[in-house]
Amino acid sequence: MSALDRFSIVLVGTTHPGNIGAAARAMKTMGLTRLKLVNPAHFPSAEATARASGADDVLARCEVFDSLADALADVRWAVATTARDRELQWPQYTPRRFAEHSFAELPGVDVAVVFGRESSGLSNDELNLCNAALRIPANPQYSSLNLAMAVQLVAYELSQNAPTQAAPPASVDPLATQIELGRLNEHLLSVMAQVGYYDPERPKMLVKRLRRMLAKAGLTTSEVRILRGLLTAVSARNES
Ligand code: SAH
Repeated sequence: MSALDRFSIVLVGTTHPGNIGAAARAMKTMGLTRLKLVNPAHFPSAEATARASGADDVLARCEVFDSLADALADVRWAVATTARDRELQWPQYTPRRFAEHSFAELPGVDVAVVFGRESSGLSNDELNLCNAALRIPANPQYSSLNLAMAVQLVAYELSQNAPTQAAPPASVDPLATQIELGRLNEHLLSVMAQVGYYDPERPKMLVKRLRRMLAKAGLTTSEVRILRGLLTAVSARNES
């Protein structure tokens, strides 16, 4: 078991299969093996296999999903990579700071690094499923790297910062999974609607901001349980 096994690389909506192969190669050179693809335009593909060179085992074991939410279902901490400076409301990391944070603050946690489409990156809804943003410092006038090159740099920093001794045990109260956060989100919205705080016909920004707030909050599984217990009690009292 390597300290890098808990990291997955998620490629969203990749258009060019060659980039998928090159990303697999970038991962394997740095000791990463878990690749997830969300709605790739072409996969499997001979071009992906050719560009993977000797890393076709990473491709063979990759998982394919219909949505980023599905790909992140079991993930407890996800970082969205972006070439743009727009994602100011998220905590922002460089690859090195992200690697240091992962090993120091998130021991044993399943972490995903999410990469966007070649043409348009990640949508705001996809960003909202992540806990933080990662930007590779680059030429401000030309900051968009090739997808697989971006994967390479992040994988390199992870490999360089990985502890050599056995990883510390996972926390007894781990960070909530994205599924747990999604359920809390639904629960909050339904009770907000029930008590008249939120009108489902006119959701405005509330739905998005709530999701983002939960993603940033770093709630653990037991904290989610406390909040949902409270919501259940409020809801029961309101009905009686
Ligand atoms: N035109 C797109 C950029 C796409 S580049 C946009 O404006 O968002 C394809 C993907 O590579 C990005 O979604 C991101 O995941 C990664 N990437 C490219 N350059 C990056 C950088 N400087 N920092 C972090 N990720 C980067």
